[in-house]
Amino acid sequence: RTRSSAELIRAEEPVLAHNYHPLPVVVARAEGAWVEDVEGRRYLDMLAGYSALNFGHRNPVLIEAAHRQLDRLTLTSRAFHNDQLAAFAESLAALTGLDMVLPMNTGAEAVESAVKVARKWAYEVKGVPADRATIVVAADNFHGRTTTIVSFSTDETARSGFGPFTPGFRVVPYNDLAALEAAVDETTAAVLIEPIQGEAGVIIPDEGYLTGVRDLTRRAGCLFIADEIQSGLGRTGRTLAVEHEGVVPDVLLLGKALGGGIVPVSAVVARRDVLGVLRPGEHGSTFGGNPLAAAVGSAVVGLLQTGEFQRGAAELGAVLRDGLTALIGKGVVGFRSRGLWAGVDIDPAIGTGREISERLMREGILVKDTHGSTIRLAPPLTITGEELGSAVEALEKVLAS
Ligand code: PLP
Repeated sequence: RTRSSAELIRAEEPVLAHNYHPLPVVVARAEGAWVEDVEGRRYLDMLAGYSALNFGHRNPVLIEAAHRQLDRLTLTSRAFHNDQLAAFAESLAALTGLDMVLPMNTGAEAVESAVKVARKWAYEVKGVPADRATIVVAADNFHGRTTTIVSFSTDETARSGFGPFTPGFRVVPYNDLAALEAAVDETTAAVLIEPIQGEAGVIIPDEGYLTGVRDLTRRAGCLFIADEIQSGLGRTGRTLAVEHEGVVPDVLLLGKALGGGIVPVSAVVARRDVLGVLRPGEHGSTFGGNPLAAAVGSAVVGLLQTGEFQRGAAELGAVLRDGLTALIGKGVVGFRSRGLWAGVDIDPAIGTGREISERLMREGILVKDTHGSTIRLAPPLTITGEELGSAVEALEKVLAS
């Protein structure tokens, strides 16, 4: 007998760590922008796995690439070469305009790897005295959950009880070039920021901020690391969010959608003089760069090469923006959006982000709150205008009731 959604939710409680508070929906199947629960109820997925599903659930091109690879070779470890990795790295370097790729698995691992690479670069290339390198980050950042990464989080829930922390980080306000300038000195290995802060509520810096970070880091002789794990790969209407200001970072972090919603794939992509500091034995991962990940990653890059998804995200992003603008004063107090990505601030009198998300769920729309009364919209880039319209209509209905 198959268990009902309610039974499955109850069954999790004693055996699963309680580090999440999921909406009470148990997904069993999915296709494109739609998911279906155990009882066969359908929901429009307006979260898309925190942007890991940019190309939709079970994108046929990506599923085909995965199937083909599953039938040939899945894992070698990096003790040997595999026949998929060269093409993946070549295509990803070409897509991003950078030189070299360090393949990892999760976003947090890419961030950790970049921290290590930046420190090593600081000692070997910049000449920072041993163990003195600093990395400047922004307040309200979200870069992942490992001990080193929560060491420079400003979210007490993410940090509390997990110390002692890794030293060597300086936190400055986001979108504040003067504060950044004041924090950077001769010990600075890198400035690590999200070009748009996703988890913080889709916070978009002022025009000129990314250009300012680029100029400042170049002048100071430190690296600009752009964490595009959530903002990258089509989400904002461009391949990368930094492209909105025509900026090329020294180090680019990718994850989430790079695995096509099928396998965890992340990467540090950088110039040769930066990633070149790593020599055999100094860093690695059993699964990083595995042939299944590389095959899916190559197919993801293939999808982005035509520009079709980026154009679609920009066009539908305009539809989303218009829809949300029309809700201002009708329960929406403000929003920020770029491409198919929006942080929507709901009038707190109407409900918390969580409550709004639960009400939307009952209307067949899945979203995620960030904090307070803010919800985040980030549908698969494959969503249609009509589907997007229905999501905005559902939001209007929920806010009016
Ligand atoms: N960096 C950013 C900007 C993210 O949004 C996330 C995940 O939400 C991460 C890093 C961490 O990725 P992962 O959950 O795969 O470790």
